[in-house]
Amino acid sequence: MPFEPLTHDPVVDPGQAREVARDVVVLPNLGAGLVPNIGFIGGEHSVLVVDTGLGPRNAEKVLAFAAEQARGRELYLTTTHFHPEHAFGAQVFADHATYLVNRAQAADLVHKGPSYLEMFRGLGAPVARNLEGVELVAPDVVYDKGYDLDLGGRVVRLEATGRAHSKGDQVVTVPDAGVLFTGDLIEAGQFSIFPWFPPYDTDVSGSRWIEVLARLAAAGPDIVVPGHGDVSGRRILTDVREYLELLRDETWKRRDSALPEETIAAEVEARMIGRHPEWEGRDWIAKGVGCFCAEHSGHEAASAGEAAEGPSA
Ligand SMILES: [Zn+2]
Repeated sequence: MPFEPLTHDPVVDPGQAREVARDVVVLPNLGAGLVPNIGFIGGEHSVLVVDTGLGPRNAEKVLAFAAEQARGRELYLTTTHFHPEHAFGAQVFADHATYLVNRAQAADLVHKGPSYLEMFRGLGAPVARNLEGVELVAPDVVYDKGYDLDLGGRVVRLEATGRAHSKGDQVVTVPDAGVLFTGDLIEAGQFSIFPWFPPYDTDVSGSRWIEVLARLAAAGPDIVVPGHGDVSGRRILTDVREYLELLRDETWKRRDSALPEETIAAEVEARMIGRHPEWEGRDWIAKGVGCFCAEHSGHEAASAGEAAEGPSA
């Protein structure tokens, strides 16, 4: 099981909305598990919603809030990646918004959406309840690398980053306000989420993730809206990259020893917790070690990955 079962309902709370820049509003997750930060970016004639919350009931609240914000403006929806709490509410927007995503994310949803739905239904009754009635819907618009969305007096940049936290990660930039929505490429106050579930899902790449964060930092945004956790300044892009680099280095330092992977993971975990004692999500450290162990020797990792993908496809 990838996560500890949740004992609370993963509920989006529109009462906590906060404007982080002019006409850029965030519904913060306030530390609640399986609740993402959700964004609303307004222009003169349109509003873009970023991420849906987990399941249709959360998405209905997000849509109602969006309609209130929009006051008649046209609605668009995008999702940062296909993971359930970010994208499994898109069906609710079907008759109300144009749904755009990058091609790799659309493919992730087709290939892995159904198995993630099953996996998440096993994460306890509150999660299963919120996933009742989920239908995975195809986006209305699919782009390859980047897409400039004109909201009226404000152009928002949608960009596929390439494989990192997932194969289909996408970031959303509001250039005039210096705001960057990262999805799960960044989490504030918690260890980076490595969805490393061999043999079912081995798409996460720690090495590429590090490269993506270096590129995002170079663009110098002022405000970073992470997938989960507090809205932050640009420094968090460096903090998370440095964490991933340390995780990689500590893993690779031990990789050729005769130690079993569990021992390596336990040692690295202790080191990372020592560095970030206040961060949550400690279970993700060992998943990250697993990912970096597989990445250290490209050849073996690639063939192991292929063998693993065969039967589950
Ligand atoms: Zn995710």
